[in-house]
Amino acid sequence: MESIWESRSFGREQDLVVVGAGITGLFTALHYGRAYPRRRVLVLERGPHPSGASVKNAGFACFGSPSELLRDIDTEGEAAALHRVEERWRGLTELRETLGDAAIGYEAVGGYEFFATDSPLYTCVAQRFDALNTALHGIFKGTVFTWADRRTAVLGLPPGHLAWNPLEGAVDSGMLMRALLAKVQGEGVDVRFNAPVEAWEDHASGVELQLAGGAAVKAARAVIATNGYTRRLVPGTDILPGRGQVVLTSPIPGLKLKGTFHLDEGYFYFRHYQGRVLLGGGRHLDKPGETTTEEATTPKVQEALEELLRNTILPGRDFSIEKRWSGIMGFRTHGGPPVVEHLSPNVVVAAGLGGIGVAIGIRVAQQAAGLVG
Ligand SMILES: Cc1cc2nc3c(=O)[nH]c(=O)nc-3n(C[C@H](O)[C@H](O)[C@H](O)COP(=O)(O)OP(=O)(O)OC[C@H]3O[C@@H](n4cnc5c(N)ncnc54)[C@H](O)[C@@H]3O)c2cc1C
Repeated sequence: MESIWESRSFGREQDLVVVGAGITGLFTALHYGRAYPRRRVLVLERGPHPSGASVKNAGFACFGSPSELLRDIDTEGEAAALHRVEERWRGLTELRETLGDAAIGYEAVGGYEFFATDSPLYTCVAQRFDALNTALHGIFKGTVFTWADRRTAVLGLPPGHLAWNPLEGAVDSGMLMRALLAKVQGEGVDVRFNAPVEAWEDHASGVELQLAGGAAVKAARAVIATNGYTRRLVPGTDILPGRGQVVLTSPIPGLKLKGTFHLDEGYFYFRHYQGRVLLGGGRHLDKPGETTTEEATTPKVQEALEELLRNTILPGRDFSIEKRWSGIMGFRTHGGPPVVEHLSPNVVVAAGLGGIGVAIGIRVAQQAAGLVG
């Protein structure tokens, strides 16, 4: 019983449907809409607002800590790892230009990797530190990482080693996603919330997407940008979910910590946030258990996070945990870059952004919009 107004303005077949209103899905819709201004673009999001990793993350505007980059070089090879760093760096620049620093709460605070005094990881990184800087020189045209051990006291950290990266920053992920959503909608893209897609089929004439509740949406093409949730719609994909747990402390009077901090190849990360400490990670402590799409916290990881706060980040300080949450990332089974590829003639998947998706989301979206266009 659709009226003529409904079917003309809301019910017509779409030119592109994007599944997932995270940073990747929304930027895909934005890029596609800009490339084809007359085409109808609809984003379908299961949650009442963007509800994936893009609104659960730690808000690091980063491209990788020294130990994380060295691990990537060892597992993927130098050329592939450096290409990804370049994509992240370009992505951060484009993100800031597109949405504006004020709108995303960008803070140019710089980032650090912290190593305990007796850390074996420090020894490995120190040996390859200059070689890493040399390898990155082609991208940044200067030295990225320097040692800043003396700053541990200024930052209220115990004695240890600090690798400093002045190019890293922090964003407010809520502000970022609100600004992106407003831009996308302002440029004529429709976004439908509470619309979980349960299945899709690519007929020769176009794509049909089944929503929970029985409704269907038809489109000429579709992009699946569901990151850690992709297995539900693409059962054979090599993208696995990876849960990240986060804690936020109560306000800490006179908090000295300022900046974004990485630990243990990026498996732990912490930063200041409005006089508090935000700390996340610990997925490596229970990889099988954290390979899940269930949004929950577990005693094992939460205890490890609290111990890190007590012993390393806020030694001797009183604090309580004000908030705990988790989010779902998407990782390739054997590591490596995000997947942007055709699943069928009219359907593209853009997912598997891993732990550094804030930076690379806009670049993955450009590829997806180009491929589906
Ligand atoms: C705890 C945590 C900390 C992180 N910290 C950082 C950080 O500091 N810096 C950084 O760069 N990266 C960080 N990341 C990673 C980064 O957040 C992600 O890589 C990035 O947000 C991925 O964006 P996306 O749009 O691809 O996925 P998502 O943001 O997950 O978006 C996917 C969307 O699809 C929707 N969806 C799923 N299934 C369906 C369906 N069937 N139908 C309709 N909609 C569906 C979801 O609700 C979601 O909104 C972190 C991630 C987590 C979880």
